[in-house]
Amino acid sequence: MSDAVRIKDKARSLGFQLAGIAPAGPSPETLFYPEWLARGYAGEMGYLERQASARLNPAEVLPGVRSAIVCAVNYNTGRPLTTFDRARAWVSRYAWGEDYHETLAAKLCELADWIRANCGGETRTYVDTGPLIERVYAKYAGVGWFGKNTCIINPKIGSWIFLGCVLTNLELDFDTPLPDRCGTCTRCIDACPTHAIVEPYVLDSRKCISYLTIELRGEVPAGLREGIGHHLFGCDICQDVCPWNRKAPGTEAEGFQSRPGLFWPELERLLDMQEEEWRVLIRGTAMKRAKVKGLLRNLMIVAGNSGLPRLVPRIERFRLHADPVVRSTAEWATGILASLNGRENDNPDRG
Ligand code: SF4
Ligand code: SF4
Repeated sequence: MSDAVRIKDKARSLGFQLAGIAPAGPSPETLFYPEWLARGYAGEMGYLERQASARLNPAEVLPGVRSAIVCAVNYNTGRPLTTFDRARAWVSRYAWGEDYHETLAAKLCELADWIRANCGGETRTYVDTGPLIERVYAKYAGVGWFGKNTCIINPKIGSWIFLGCVLTNLELDFDTPLPDRCGTCTRCIDACPTHAIVEPYVLDSRKCISYLTIELRGEVPAGLREGIGHHLFGCDICQDVCPWNRKAPGTEAEGFQSRPGLFWPELERLLDMQEEEWRVLIRGTAMKRAKVKGLLRNLMIVAGNSGLPRLVPRIERFRLHADPVVRSTAEWATGILASLNGRENDNPDRG
């Protein structure tokens, strides 16, 4: 049995549903990466620019690198797709359970240890440290095709998957990329509420709700707040509408099941929470990346978008918050809701 087959078998035994191997060299997608950065699509994610050289030239982090072993794990908990209720906020599916960075990193380290012990060579592990490179390796490793929504889509399990990658200097047998099966479909592009998929396969992060609610620090530009709608953290819409996710199997993995309070939480409950409760709620989840003050800023935007003037008294205390961004966003939300003159906005388009 070849090392490639043994490594993929080992990956599956560790709980990865998918595993494939790609050459760790340049590709048309990685060659586009500098242009993507130059267009400004990375927004304020300066680390992507700083790490660009190493990410495009993996030999900088692992001299003699030959192969990228890409592993994927299904995090689809089987809960409903994004559902709108003006009195609730939406948290992206991937953040309902425990932080996948930690879960995957532990599994990948175990795989890397096994590779070194049983096949030799050197290894480096990566877990979703950026918007492109792991997905490109995943494409060439046959894990899935690179969808127009920029997600990796596997024909059997869809795109609710986390990706991790082990680089090695071993020369392994490579897998064959899967054909692109997006065809003439444009559902993701049409459904994106902020028009962030600026052309098929190209995302302008600056417009994407995931970026705005997670990566962007400071003020969300006023013109982009309405588009955030009810999204407290992340956005799933371009995956919800993807036909390849219609029959995506669920996972029983305990760590990915939603924690109480993270699945479709009520705005009034969130607005009443003290900061220590927030810290407890997000501890050990991917939501901690946004930090409590980032989530409070997002909560003010969601409340402002709710069309529910009854929330104004609950927003009041945030107008005195220690963080100036939370304060100013609370002012904004109060202004929006007060302008409704006590009438609920009957038809807010906040999906
Ligand atoms: S995550 Fe949401 S905002 Fe971002 S591209 Fe997809 S649909 Fe658009
Ligand atoms: S919604 Fe359609 S175009 Fe978009 S990723 Fe899915 S199949 Fe491709």
